[in-house]
Amino acid sequence: MAKPVILAVDDDPQVLRAVERDLKRKYAREYRVLRADSAASALDALDRLKLRGDPVALFLVDQRMPRMTGVEFLEKAIEIFPEAKRDLLTAYADTDAAIRAINEVGIDYYLQKPWDPPEEHLYPILDDQLEEWHSGFNPPFEGIRVVGDRWSPDSHRLRDFLARNRVPYRWLDVEGSEEARQIVERLDSGAPNLPVVVFQDGSHLEVPENRELAERIGLQVRAERPFYDLIIIGGGPSGLAAAVYGASEGLKTVLIEREAPGGQAGTSSFIENYLGFPQGLKGSELARRAVAQARRFEVEILTPQEVADVRVEDPYRIIRLGDGTELSCHALIIATGVSYRKLEAPGVDRLTGAGVYYGASLTEAHSCRNEDVYIVGGANSAGQAAMYFSEHASKVVILYRGDSLRKSMSEYLVKQVEGRENIEVRLKSEVVEVEGGDRLESIVVRDSASDRTETVPAQSLFIFIGAAPHTDWLGDRVVRDKRGFILSGSDLSRNGERPKGWKLDRDPYLLETSVPGIFVAGDVRHGSIKRCASAVGEGSIAVQFVHQYLKEV
Ligand SMILES: Cc1cc2nc3c(=O)[nH]c(=O)nc-3n(C[C@H](O)[C@H](O)[C@H](O)COP(=O)(O)OP(=O)(O)OC[C@H]3O[C@@H](n4cnc5c(N)ncnc54)[C@H](O)[C@@H]3O)c2cc1C
Repeated sequence: MAKPVILAVDDDPQVLRAVERDLKRKYAREYRVLRADSAASALDALDRLKLRGDPVALFLVDQRMPRMTGVEFLEKAIEIFPEAKRDLLTAYADTDAAIRAINEVGIDYYLQKPWDPPEEHLYPILDDQLEEWHSGFNPPFEGIRVVGDRWSPDSHRLRDFLARNRVPYRWLDVEGSEEARQIVERLDSGAPNLPVVVFQDGSHLEVPENRELAERIGLQVRAERPFYDLIIIGGGPSGLAAAVYGASEGLKTVLIEREAPGGQAGTSSFIENYLGFPQGLKGSELARRAVAQARRFEVEILTPQEVADVRVEDPYRIIRLGDGTELSCHALIIATGVSYRKLEAPGVDRLTGAGVYYGASLTEAHSCRNEDVYIVGGANSAGQAAMYFSEHASKVVILYRGDSLRKSMSEYLVKQVEGRENIEVRLKSEVVEVEGGDRLESIVVRDSASDRTETVPAQSLFIFIGAAPHTDWLGDRVVRDKRGFILSGSDLSRNGERPKGWKLDRDPYLLETSVPGIFVAGDVRHGSIKRCASAVGEGSIAVQFVHQYLKEV
């Protein structure tokens, strides 16, 4: 934490120098002693300190200053730092003003000039006050603060991005937080575009793109070299497993992830069935451990960075990133997973991020405290989200089109959902419209049994309605099935024929696609199991076939 500040303010240069000297002599080790030669420059300094989140412990201010008296300055200063101790430096003639100020602005002490020797007339008084200040001092949050409106999609995007990349930050809602109001007033324009991200050094970015924010906080977005033995696209469990195995077995490996390492698993509130964790584990924890392990083996993780295209120039596989740069490799693993299908109902697109969310947006969970939360879907992901939100929300309502959760959700989870008092399951129910101005206000639900619609007030709607693979960018570079999932290994053979364009004198390896040297792992693969453990298994198996392939090139 930055040292707390003691600020001396005096327009008389000689006195200011003497105060500074005496303060530094005794307090420089524990405090930052700053000085200002006018009330105006002192107020500017306080604005900067406030923006950086640095604490001020004590003001020592001369009463007699030409444009603003010490008392007038303190009146303004304590609006910014209400907890700081306030001491007035006075001449004998100012004693009455100082005594009045004790009541008016809560002066803690007035010291008469000169204060020599400080050991007798200055330090004992300040020691006492600083001790008192410390006893009531809550260290400020150190790090990034995000100031915005809870219902703004950009606020949601930035918070989600920071959370998923495990960057500690503090969220300040302009509607309810005094600190947020103070920060907004202090930014250059006084009316910044929100959300604004304020960094520890007091600098800020208004409505930054994820990439801009990533560069500012030191995430790696650019590769260190042009060529790698192995490039992995996607940083979910399958991509991370491939990275750990590949790098630990000596392959120069880079992993490219467009949002945050962890993938879908990283957004999962709880994974119950991962081997070796009998109590279950949070998806974010699994992601954190996997990323640490990959980094230990010197995997380069580029994030946020998207792969936009791939081409073959034998023996190289060359990928183009979203920013236009190209990287080449001998072997490529595609582990881009799936994402939720869009809910087709009027209003959903417009309010996505402003009360309507895809997946279990853990960032929003705490904001839903004491509210009713609606979840659309009936598979395990919806059930897990319901269990998670039920710990925060006053009530969780699952809206499911089917007539029984048991057909789509694991039995253990159905039992948990049924056992949770504040979860209500509405079967044969679908969302036909969502309504609201700049945020979700109500949803229209149709009961297919009675064909009646009902409009219910709602602030949060989380959607889990099946998945589509992230493969549009691949076009016909590799063979995909009708739904876009990538075919591999024996799935590629048609009546014993090898895939079109396949020139090698061997069949495609397990997990190898229709292009030699390009492999697939995890949820994005045709026929995959869609579980963490299978994704991890496929990522590691793919690396074994990468080794075999590398012997051929
Ligand atoms: C809410 C929820 C709960 C779940 N609970 C469980 C559970 O309890 N147990 C269980 O076993 N499984 C569970 N699953 C399923 C599990 O999370 C997935 O099976 C697993 O994450 C699949 O891993 P993956 O690496 O194949 O894909 P993903 O985890 O989907 O990762 C793919 C990654 O690729 C990135 N990407 C996509 N396109 C590109 C591109 N062009 N360039 C760069 N990067 C790209 C994505 O951003 C993503 O991070 C759950 C899933 C969800 C959503």
